[in-house]
Amino acid sequence: MTKNTQRSSWKRSTRLTHAKQIPLPEKNESIVSPIYQTAKFALAPDLAIPDQFIYTRISNPTLRELEDCLSETMNKEDTIVFASGIAAITSTLLSLLSQDDHILIFREVYKPTRIFVRDILPRFGVKHTILPLSELPRLEEHIQTGKTRLVYFESPTNPNLQIADIKTLTETAKKNNLLTIMDSTFAGIHQHVHYSLDLVIHSLTKFANGHGDVTAGSVSGSKTLIAKIRHLSIFLGATLDPHAAFLILRGLKTYDLRVERQAKSALEIARYLKKHPKIKKVYYPGLEDHPGYEIAKNQMEDFGGIVAFEVDPSLGRAVDICKRGQLLKFTASVGSTESLICPSLQFFGDDLPEADRLEMGLHDYSLRLSVGLEDPEDLIGDLEQMLRT
Ligand SMILES: *Cc1c(COP(=O)(O)O)cnc(C)c1O
Repeated sequence: MTKNTQRSSWKRSTRLTHAKQIPLPEKNESIVSPIYQTAKFALAPDLAIPDQFIYTRISNPTLRELEDCLSETMNKEDTIVFASGIAAITSTLLSLLSQDDHILIFREVYKPTRIFVRDILPRFGVKHTILPLSELPRLEEHIQTGKTRLVYFESPTNPNLQIADIKTLTETAKKNNLLTIMDSTFAGIHQHVHYSLDLVIHSLTKFANGHGDVTAGSVSGSKTLIAKIRHLSIFLGATLDPHAAFLILRGLKTYDLRVERQAKSALEIARYLKKHPKIKKVYYPGLEDHPGYEIAKNQMEDFGGIVAFEVDPSLGRAVDICKRGQLLKFTASVGSTESLICPSLQFFGDDLPEADRLEMGLHDYSLRLSVGLEDPEDLIGDLEQMLRT
């Protein structure tokens, strides 16, 4: 070796820049995977070695670990993760659609998704029909032969937890050669895994990570479709940070325990609200009088951790009720360890025409509650004081 390739001869700045990496002895594994918090990977001298990592925007082992874990859980061939749920949605649609294509989407989807399809995609010549979820049985009547490429939907819907019949929807789509894309965020990554949905999207920000400290999204499906999305994503660049992916992998270790508890508490709270004299309506698919109860019972493992309801105007507007929360934090979003509450209309329906809002049951008195991990008795205690006049 020449003098300056020897570590011992390096000057301080060189040693500080190239701290010695510690390889693990053979079979001596770390139980928690390391975070590959690096943008770049040095290539092996033999460039022919396959699957080398080069640049984190293209791929990174921490992101791959999360992607594989999600594919396995969701019963899909492959997954790609993104820096947010909405990045997963917009990257997916931009990957699959071109000028003059037409898509079917339901009115009861996440507001930013609706805005992207309704107000932004038309600038690129992509057309749409927005249908009320109640039109699902008549989906075929809205298909434009040779133009309609896909149908996009959610279940349970945001904010009032309507249930889409996934079997009917996927069968109609298959028959007509349409792709199905489901945003399954409200149900969680453990649900709907045996349906033949082409692509399943999640905001990992919610139940998957579960701790309210990162934003992330994912889309899962066949190798072919994910490759197509991955290809465009390299140019769109909404890459998830490896440290955020690590936090999600950590969150997933307790996923089952969290969602089981949240669904159990949500049912308890829905039943409490149902009996409350000042509550006019409760929307929770686990209540037997919910219009989607029978379908939900068949297609879901549990009914989820979100409850929506409408209060009597004598209690004040939804916004004022949210402000009274102590344990229940006044904010958007769902799927945190902490319980979160928000007014539904202002957060999710203010872009809709009046007639749609009314049909969707969105008023100044509508609220949405995401149940956290607190003791349900304490949560009911907080609701009790919030609902006192
Ligand atoms: C939150 C949410 C999104 C968007 O996810 P972000 O991580 O906030 O970008 C998409 N769909 C649904 C149903 C959501 O609840």
